[in-house]
Amino acid sequence: MTVQRKLQFAAFVMCFAGLFAGGLSLAHTAFIASWNEQQLHRLVRDTLSRTEQAIDSAVMKMSDVVFNQHTSCATVDRTAMTRALYGSSIMKNMRLETRDSTCWSYEERNQALEQSIASAQHNRTRNPDYSLFSLGFPGWKGLGVRWQYGPEKSIIEVLATSGLLFAILPLELRDSALMQLTLADGSSFASHVPRAGSGRDEAALIIFEEKSVQYPIAISLKVDSAALAQWNHSVSPLTSTIVVAFGLGFGVLAARGMFRSTSILDELDAALANGEIRPYFQPIFHLESRELLGFEMLARWIKPDGAVIPPLAFIPLAESNGRIERLTTELLKQAGAQLGGLLQAQSHLKLSFNVTPDQYLAADFVDNLTAQATKFGLPLNSMVVEVTERQAIADKDKAAAVSEMLIDAGMQVAIDDAGTGHNGLSAIHALGANYLKIDKFFVDGITLDRKSSELVELLAALAGKFGMTVVAEGVETEEQIAVLLQLGIRAGQGFVYSKPVPATTILAMAAKAVTPGRQADGGGSQLRSA
Ligand code: C2E
Ligand code: CA
Ligand code: CA
Repeated sequence: MTVQRKLQFAAFVMCFAGLFAGGLSLAHTAFIASWNEQQLHRLVRDTLSRTEQAIDSAVMKMSDVVFNQHTSCATVDRTAMTRALYGSSIMKNMRLETRDSTCWSYEERNQALEQSIASAQHNRTRNPDYSLFSLGFPGWKGLGVRWQYGPEKSIIEVLATSGLLFAILPLELRDSALMQLTLADGSSFASHVPRAGSGRDEAALIIFEEKSVQYPIAISLKVDSAALAQWNHSVSPLTSTIVVAFGLGFGVLAARGMFRSTSILDELDAALANGEIRPYFQPIFHLESRELLGFEMLARWIKPDGAVIPPLAFIPLAESNGRIERLTTELLKQAGAQLGGLLQAQSHLKLSFNVTPDQYLAADFVDNLTAQATKFGLPLNSMVVEVTERQAIADKDKAAAVSEMLIDAGMQVAIDDAGTGHNGLSAIHALGANYLKIDKFFVDGITLDRKSSELVELLAALAGKFGMTVVAEGVETEEQIAVLLQLGIRAGQGFVYSKPVPATTILAMAAKAVTPGRQADGGGSQLRSA
């Protein structure tokens, strides 16, 4: 923490403690009763927000592990997972589950935990790739966060959530209050249970509840009304001292909660405001002629020290916290400034960019996009909107209508990650897209197993029948290019041609319009000989 941050923190502590202790002087008035209730409301809200924060952090850590490809059970990868958890009091363990292997970052054998995971009931989050589930065995409760990052590939993080409720209740209420964190399925993943005999009479309980809008979690605090009344009135000098001390403790907890619950989002907001979220572009090329057909815009967070954070580490966070529209707008604005001229001069080049299904279905999506494109100097007929098939599209009819409006406006539509969703081929057709982007998972398999190449062949045949152009994603080898061409696929994107690169590299590529293999590698591209 910087000195300024420490001072801010201390100010918050004093502020919370001051509020708390100041309130005591009014302890015998009717006002204090409602004020104390407000404190409990705030306590409940702060605890819920710290829980959301713990889940956000788990998502970030898992993104780190997956992006850095520490996704095997080799010692080096398990060490990397362990390192990701190091220093956190809540994150306990990570577990990898793939078709071939399953392992924990810490190798401790805990059969009760394994059983608990095996029988877990998954609660879907807004992003269906993530789910939450309660874990527990006698004497221990926790929360599992699962991220399915590919077909038959998932990673689980185990959070010891009881710590979130530890010593958070005022001393006077601890023996008469029941506090619980629960999931949408009603299961509890953290609880403070009063000593036997107290807080049992449901009718005499005052209940404070709060639901998260971000995750399928809720918190409830049930306090015995008699104990609450007692808390309001029994303010002897001794209890005053104790409660002032508690006030300080509570102040620390509440201030810490505030600091923690906003830190990652604060950073993301600041990054958006400071232009640290920037577009990179990955070429899409003709598999046979190696001609540049266009490029896909991919978000990168470039930190002031030059570190590059991959999108999987912040896009889900932006998505679940209402920042994704702003992020897309920022990227399109920069893309317009950097590549608008090129797209106007070379109308055959297409700029693809990603939107989430929620964005796609949002009211005024097409109007807003059209207005933005015009403002940022992006020709509508060079724009391709990619919508992923990985996440379910809630309203398929509406999605089809949106595709039609986009196409009427001169833009094009691509179904991203085709083959990974649960939409079925007819639903893919109904969406009315121009492009079908076949997920890397299947491209990886075409030279290895018959099933993958059959599926790719099927998707390609279907796309052809419905007039869609197929783009193969994640093409890494010449061998894959050869098989793709045999299957009738002409467009590709992948490291074999170029990694995502800054706009300056794209401008150089387009200007030279040379065989990619002979180009200089600007900004990290990996152009190879065609
Ligand atoms: P995507 O849309 O499927 O993008 C393709 C991803 O595959 C990119 O990862 C790209 O770098 C990677 N890739 C391409 N070719 C190869 C290859 O040959 N080998 C390997 N190993 N990887 C390859 P990236 O840039 O990390 O993006 C990950 C995902 O983040 C994207 O997947 C997309 O779903 C999301 N994303 C990125 N930018 C945005 C954005 O601005 N908005 C939204 N909503 N999502 C975004
Ligand atoms: Ca994409
Ligand atoms: Ca994709």
